[in-house]
Amino acid sequence: MAHQSDVLVIGGGVIGLCCAYFLAQRGYRVTVLEKARLGSGCSYGNAGLIVPSHSVPLAAPGVLGKGLRWLLNPESPLYLKPRLDGQLWAWLWRFCRACTARHRQRAMPLLRDLHLASLRLYSELAALEGMDFGLAQRGLLTVCRTPQGFAAAREEAHLLQGIGLEAHPLSAAEVQQHEPRVAFRTVGGVFYPQDAHLDPARFVQALARHLAARGVALQEATEVFGFDTVGSRLTRVKTTRGDFAAEEVVLAGGAWSPQLARLLDLRLLMQPGKGYSLTVRRPPAAPRTPLMLAEARVAVTPMDNVLRFAGTLELAGFDFSLSRRRLAAICRAVPAYMPALVVERLALVEIWRGWRPCTPDGLPYLGRTRRYANLTIATGHAMLGVSLGPITGLLVAQLLSGEAPAVDLTLLRVERFA
Ligand SMILES: Cc1cc2nc3c(=O)[nH]c(=O)nc-3n(C[C@H](O)[C@H](O)[C@H](O)COP(=O)(O)OP(=O)(O)OC[C@H]3O[C@@H](n4cnc5c(N)ncnc54)[C@H](O)[C@@H]3O)c2cc1C
Repeated sequence: MAHQSDVLVIGGGVIGLCCAYFLAQRGYRVTVLEKARLGSGCSYGNAGLIVPSHSVPLAAPGVLGKGLRWLLNPESPLYLKPRLDGQLWAWLWRFCRACTARHRQRAMPLLRDLHLASLRLYSELAALEGMDFGLAQRGLLTVCRTPQGFAAAREEAHLLQGIGLEAHPLSAAEVQQHEPRVAFRTVGGVFYPQDAHLDPARFVQALARHLAARGVALQEATEVFGFDTVGSRLTRVKTTRGDFAAEEVVLAGGAWSPQLARLLDLRLLMQPGKGYSLTVRRPPAAPRTPLMLAEARVAVTPMDNVLRFAGTLELAGFDFSLSRRRLAAICRAVPAYMPALVVERLALVEIWRGWRPCTPDGLPYLGRTRRYANLTIATGHAMLGVSLGPITGLLVAQLLSGEAPAVDLTLLRVERFA
């Protein structure tokens, strides 16, 4: 006998749990299938930033020139481990093709709307009982060390102002004024007041408790390894804890989604983009506002009594190693901007790495597939999964319940690279 529910959500990260929340809100009986522990994937140790300021997609003009210089340097913010892998080369090909002004122009208003909608939903979630996850809207301060970096940051700010977002270029003195407790070595920066941040692990845990209290079945240590289909319908999901059946299945398996899709003969073009974070006990000279160290691409997020440094994007497949070289690159970057913050001298709480689910064009996959009538895919959020979690959950719930989606989903079509 299969366990029965209305909707099965595969993946217990920020995306899967947000889907479960909005589906349960509409009265569906939901079961979440998670192979490890809830929130133990990429949703655990990330920088926790909610970022309308990141409405320029990763695939954008100019990225190729910079990216190619970085790609083969293991200490750069973006590193590609060269290997013979057809999927990787197909991904790179599509990435290069997406680095156009046209793609950027079409993607930016959509990303803006998704981030801002998510931010509103986060405020609603934070108002629910027991949902304390450190949500704070103190903006994001991008800090630049070089004139070239500052020029690029101002150019990006200008693009974002063009779609109605708030972005304030600041001189070096103004950056210093903004964060008087921190001694900066900077030529200037940009302040994005609409951005916010949270503690991602606390969010996932609080949401999981909320869902469990409302009858959502949360199945941990339950790995999906197959599907039964009849015609165009998924009839059973086969797991290490037995079979599960439901009217609808949502695939939200993060960076592992392509492997799951392959079991259904579906091709999801995606690469795991490994990133690292180092969390330390919060020193007295920590910034109050989250920072983005522009040239180094390192995020610095204050969370309660800790401070987190997060960065690097490594296209190395599922390589589980901890690269000391790449951790050292993050550690070196921080005092280059804030000389008093020497990471190695701070009290370490945790080193973490996770795999971002990266699509070639920097936009998630969200929608139904042509092949299966009762399968919805919600993945590929790359470096924006926390920021876009709640709106993704809402859109999935709207799709399944036949409501008009809050935004036009054309650019997010699941089979756009098929
Ligand atoms: C260093 C770093 C910093 C980041 N900073 C930010 C940030 O500031 N803001 C932001 O918005 N985003 C950030 N991100 C990106 C963000 O973390 C991800 O986009 C997001 O966590 C993806 O969520 P997810 O639910 O899709 O994936 P995951 O959290 O990885 O969840 C997928 C889940 O599916 C489960 N699963 C996989 N296969 C199976 C299976 N066969 N059966 C059952 N379960 C399965 C996994 O165990 C996992 O728990 C950052 C990422 C990194 C690495």
